[in-house]
Amino acid sequence: MKTRLNETLQIGILASGIIFLSIFISCTKNNKTPDHQSMNMEKNQADSTIVRSGIIDLETIDKNKDGKVYQDMMDWNVISDEPGKCPLCGMKLKEVALEEAKKNLIDSGYKVMEK
Ligand SMILES: [Zn+2]
Repeated sequence: MKTRLNETLQIGILASGIIFLSIFISCTKNNKTPDHQSMNMEKNQADSTIVRSGIIDLETIDKNKDGKVYQDMMDWNVISDEPGKCPLCGMKLKEVALEEAKKNLIDSGYKVMEK
């Protein structure tokens, strides 16, 4: 009888332990969600220097002078000389010739520096 009682007690402790653990895990998960979102925000903010405004000087953006830049097909003013992602929509930047990037910008109403 004594042994059975101990077993019941152990199962009870184990069960309450599992319940406590699952509550603890779900709480931890809930707390982590905003952290994850703010991490993504920080990552996006780090790339925001490639969002161009005003009169866009493509030749300055093309630092390595290969005649090509990386441009976002959604946000035309997001241009970088290196491959990457758009900080606004997360789309992968497409490699385009300077002339093509310029045409895209002008067609969408952006101002481009003329030489
Ligand atoms: Zn974009």
